[in-house]
Amino acid sequence: MEFLPIFMNMRGRKALVVGGGVIASRKAELVAKAGAEIILVSPALAPAAADAVRDRGWRWIERGFRPTDLDGCDLVIAATDDEAVNRAVHDAARTRHLPVNVADQPALCSFILPAIIDRSPAVVAVSTGGRSPVLARYVKGLVERALPSRLGRVADFLGRLRPGIHRRLPETGARRRYWERLLEGAVPEQVRAGQDGAARDTAEILLNDMLQETAGDQTARRGRAWLVGAGPGDPELLTLKAQRLLQQADVVLFDRLVPLGVLEMCRREAEMVYVGKRSGDHVLPQAHISELLVRHVEAGRRVVRLKGGDPFIFGRGGEELEALVEAGLDFEVVPGVSAANGCAAYAGIPLTHRDHAQGVSFWTGHARDGELDLDWAAMNNPRQTQVFYMGAGNAPLIRENLLAHGVPPTMPVALVQAGTTDAQRVLRTSLHGLAETAADIDRSLPTLIIVGSVVNLRRGLGWFEGNAGNAAAVFPPHLSAPPGVTNDVRPA
Ligand code: SAH
Repeated sequence: MEFLPIFMNMRGRKALVVGGGVIASRKAELVAKAGAEIILVSPALAPAAADAVRDRGWRWIERGFRPTDLDGCDLVIAATDDEAVNRAVHDAARTRHLPVNVADQPALCSFILPAIIDRSPAVVAVSTGGRSPVLARYVKGLVERALPSRLGRVADFLGRLRPGIHRRLPETGARRRYWERLLEGAVPEQVRAGQDGAARDTAEILLNDMLQETAGDQTARRGRAWLVGAGPGDPELLTLKAQRLLQQADVVLFDRLVPLGVLEMCRREAEMVYVGKRSGDHVLPQAHISELLVRHVEAGRRVVRLKGGDPFIFGRGGEELEALVEAGLDFEVVPGVSAANGCAAYAGIPLTHRDHAQGVSFWTGHARDGELDLDWAAMNNPRQTQVFYMGAGNAPLIRENLLAHGVPPTMPVALVQAGTTDAQRVLRTSLHGLAETAADIDRSLPTLIIVGSVVNLRRGLGWFEGNAGNAAAVFPPHLSAPPGVTNDVRPA
């Protein structure tokens, strides 16, 4: 290791920065963030530095560097464009054994400033030993994405807990086991969700269990449920939060429409329970699913209830939450990309558009007792897009009702099947042709029906209309659909 990473307490200490340019002020900025008093030495100042002198009480000595400037300083930075000055600052600082950093000259640095991920009080510092600041920033980006949000809150919470735990669990090994178990359990999530009271309760239960040495993993922990949206198909559409929770789950209860790629992201040790249902042939009745959910959480497990798309859009998420509320259990809902959002984006059909549709409605096409009791009159609105979930089987009924309520037979319609997956198909037709087109599709795949003039914009946007080369020019490749997506376009 070329440099020893340490975190210095600069609160109320003095940092001398020689130079008044952009780099000098950027470095000074970082040191100031840690609470240091900044003294700039430079005949002139760039605007950023001048602003800080005016607004934030940085001191400015308006002349060239003199070794006596180092009197009373704790840290030194040289960032002028004059190599001789930089070297003079370095030499003077070394004579006094002061830590010194010279911009862009690693050989003259007794310390370097790392790239920083600041979730204060938790801070991650990344260094490449001054070799490649770009690589350091790249690594910083990777770490940034891997870290859960509100890490600072969690660090603060643990810090407050620490003195008490130190007192009540004096043995080092026991204390380490306690912290490890605490971090694996529900506490970090509770703190992130702002439920500090519940988190303190959970921490106390765990502590008591450990003190009584009854600390079996399952009983020590307070269970919790997360109702998580798995998105419409492409696993990359999962939220970062969902991904993290999947990797911490003890039990995952999942539906038929949860994409395989998402299931593959679950923690390897997690118990995977299929509770899928297809209209008609329910594997498990809704009441049993709710019961199962409650039972696992009561047993102290971290339970992820995974639902296709978004849990609160035709996902019956509300019913399962009621069961958890009745049982007095903790839960959280994590939204997902709903089929309408995913299909529209990957099919290139905007759901709203200034000139075509000022609104969009989501409807269920699932009939109860052969009846589709919807507000059909409201759908006769040329300036609004209608989206039907679960509607492929009832396409004739949807067509009949829309026509009967005055929607013109020429109204454009798109059926998006298995949207956002490798098997995506987009079938375009008109209201007139809806039933016939729907009769032609594979019923084992989920299908979304989009009705409205926005469907016509698909051509205007240049999406996959038989000219992939063009599509790539209009949309950068990373914005287009995953490889292998087929896009049948049938004449209306
Ligand atoms: N909660 C889910 C919807 C569940 S209802 C969500 O927010 O997306 C199930 C219906 O969603 C299916 O019948 C179909 O109409 C639609 N659907 C789900 N995934 C889909 C996909 N990948 N492509 C097309 N439609 C999809």
